[in-house]
Amino acid sequence: MPTLLLTGASRGIGRELLNKYKQDGWTVIAACRDPGAVGDIGADRVLPLEVTSEDSIRALKDTLGDLPIDVLWNNAGVYLDKGMGLEETAADLWSETFAVNTIAPLRIANAFAANVADSEKKTMAFTSSRMGSIGDLGGASSAYAYRSSKTALNMAAAILANDLRPTGVKTVVLHPGWVRTDMGGPSADIDTETSAGGMKKVVDSLTDAQSGGFFNYDGKSWPW
Ligand code: NDP
Repeated sequence: MPTLLLTGASRGIGRELLNKYKQDGWTVIAACRDPGAVGDIGADRVLPLEVTSEDSIRALKDTLGDLPIDVLWNNAGVYLDKGMGLEETAADLWSETFAVNTIAPLRIANAFAANVADSEKKTMAFTSSRMGSIGDLGGASSAYAYRSSKTALNMAAAILANDLRPTGVKTVVLHPGWVRTDMGGPSADIDTETSAGGMKKVVDSLTDAQSGGFFNYDGKSWPW
């Protein structure tokens, strides 16, 4: 059975990604900040991971060893500056946002690159956001930290796609839609099933030519 290693699996979009992969018979390793608090979420293994901690990433790597990982999905994220303008965006808030949304996914990708390269499907997915798209900037006037953290994630993931191409690993950056979760709020456009099901389809059918791309949950491509 193929194996998924998923961050941010405790709730929201990640929780539904977990369900979708389990329904397809995958082995799912859910990496959660506090496994004791999440209860039975239906994963094969629930392992601790604070994504901003190098020690925590190393401990997870030690636990998993050389286990082949077919899909590594960096999904955990925070949106700390919803509705905030530049004046309210304190440096520590900005740093924390980058630590979780930008630096952590790349540190985790680095830690598990060999595990992914050793697998059948050799895929890394990053949950980003259309809010990180400069091409889709619109009349943006807030959320400097969140938006720029996702823009930086997009760039780093695009560089990584180049670096990993010789190993056969494909990468993809995804916009999950505006989704009804704690982060997206109750008025968002779509439910977690639609988002997770759509993104899984994109990841499952990812071709070499699409590797390194930025796609909507329904498969349309996004401008960087
Ligand atoms: P939620 O707020 O519902 O869930 C966030 C998840 O990230 C939780 O599992 C949370 O774990 C985890 N997480 C946050 N910080 C850390 C950390 N330091 N270490 C480990 N885990 C952490 O968000 P969504 O499900 O809505 O969002 C998932 C992804 O989708 C994010 O990357 C987000 O930016 C992106 N996205 C969401 C949109 C939406 O409309 N919902 C739109 C565009 C992008 P815990 O339970 O421990 O807090």
